[in-house]
Amino acid sequence: MIKLPSSVKIDNIEYEVKIIKNLKDEGNELMGCVTYHESVIKIDASQSQDQAINTLAHECMHAISFERGIDSLLKESILERVIDEMAKGFVQLIRDNPELIKCIKKTK
Ligand SMILES: [Zn+2]
Repeated sequence: MIKLPSSVKIDNIEYEVKIIKNLKDEGNELMGCVTYHESVIKIDASQSQDQAINTLAHECMHAISFERGIDSLLKESILERVIDEMAKGFVQLIRDNPELIKCIKKTK
């Protein structure tokens, strides 16, 4: 059973996080997706907890790049690779640096 927050705030937008069985887009199976106009992040329910965390971080990176208007600067295939590696690096950064997170929380 995947446990994720029910929402994430990305810049000024609150994205609802939904765990969905058999998540698909036009027949293609998806691990996750973000629907910008609805501010919804969907995560496929069949993943392990660790995979789901990485998928949520990946979709958050997409939302950050959309909200900040940088997603259109790169070709889609390159953007996808950048998003994926940045998300994995971000999750690892948070895991490995609790003191960093404390410092960040104390600032605005
Ligand atoms: Zn992606």
